[in-house]
Amino acid sequence: MSKLTICGGGNAAHVLIALAGHIGWDVDVFAPLADEAERLQAGVSVRGGILANYGHKTVMGRPRRISATPAEVIPGSELILLALPAFAHGSTLQSIADHLDREVAIGALPARGGFDYQAFSILPNKGVRIFGLQTLPWACRISTYGQEAEILGTKAEVDLAAAPAAELSRITQQLEPLFSSKLSPHSSFLSLTLANTGQLIHPGIMYGLGRGKEGDRFAQDDIPLFYQGVDDPTAHVLQSLSDEVQAIAGAVAAVLPDFNPREVATLHEWILRAYPADIADGSSLRRAFNTNRAYVGLKLPSRPVGPNSFAIDYKARYLAEDVPFGLVVLRGIAALVGVRTPTIDEVIIWAQEHLDKQYLVNGELSGPNLVETRAPQIYGIQTLAQLAKA
Ligand code: NAD
Repeated sequence: MSKLTICGGGNAAHVLIALAGHIGWDVDVFAPLADEAERLQAGVSVRGGILANYGHKTVMGRPRRISATPAEVIPGSELILLALPAFAHGSTLQSIADHLDREVAIGALPARGGFDYQAFSILPNKGVRIFGLQTLPWACRISTYGQEAEILGTKAEVDLAAAPAAELSRITQQLEPLFSSKLSPHSSFLSLTLANTGQLIHPGIMYGLGRGKEGDRFAQDDIPLFYQGVDDPTAHVLQSLSDEVQAIAGAVAAVLPDFNPREVATLHEWILRAYPADIADGSSLRRAFNTNRAYVGLKLPSRPVGPNSFAIDYKARYLAEDVPFGLVVLRGIAALVGVRTPTIDEVIIWAQEHLDKQYLVNGELSGPNLVETRAPQIYGIQTLAQLAKA
């Protein structure tokens, strides 16, 4: 094993530091946000490493170096993992671009939509390999900053794409010892982008459960449950979003012969595959969400507005990340292959108002904030031929 660099200092980064250090990688950490590098360093020095608790077992890994300066930690990396929300991918790639070795592989956990378009636009001609996971292999939370994180659940299977695709087996071999989840290869980033289920689940449930509740106030104990709270109308929204993705995948396959639409699972197939041991009743999409042990107790994102009074937080990551780096990317691909997406449009139009953004205007991806998204059109992909080339 040689050197792996983790970018980020959040929940996922804590778990990765523990796991990668535990299995013997030399782990460096690039944490440029605010004072995270110092706080991580201070935390690590308390116990000599970071602990990841699975409940039944605990592993510890010690990072070798933690820095907010890319020149100190990026050179010499064999693998770089972006353990970041998608809105931090661009600035992080820009900071590390000039310090990369030629054969490095850079991966995003999770990739969200259009990671490949953005990465190749920032890292042109550097000979780097990129990869992305469809989701994070765990649900995890920091319990003590720099010291300890809890792994609340582990997905049985996680999708993986790489570019160039020929690198998939080498990258899978490098990553497999890190994760207990099975890695399922995708033949292209395009199918990984379409298979991103977070972009359906998060905005879909926010729309289903949060629409019309803007003025509602909740005591802490009464904040509605997110996944367990999925009702029939919300399940219908999720099903419609999933059906539209299947239509997009079918249309892409009709014009790109190498594209395999079977790699893009329906939402129901995906949840049963990701949580086979956690779902008590998988007979319907709604029941699969309601009875998934891994989702128990998780609530709608909220913000305090008074003493024991909370409002739904419509600017939370479930919209702020999954719309510009998810649904809008899907919408851009749909436009290229000529598929109508009424439910995706409905959710984008509702969400963009809450985010104070304009992506979709009069049925066109022409809003002034489109440039902040990873829609393929932003990267000059305006035609099917350009999509095929990308
Ligand atoms: P987090 O909120 O804990 O991590 C945020 C970290 O990202 C910050 O601590 C900082 O290090 C970095 N960051 C944020 N903005 C930055 C910026 N502008 N510049 C540089 N760095 C910046 O997030 P997380 O829980 O580790 O999640 C990472 C990704 O995984 C997200 O996309 C999240 O949606 C996804 N995810 C997380 C979980 C989970 O259980 N934690 C589960 C599924 C998916």
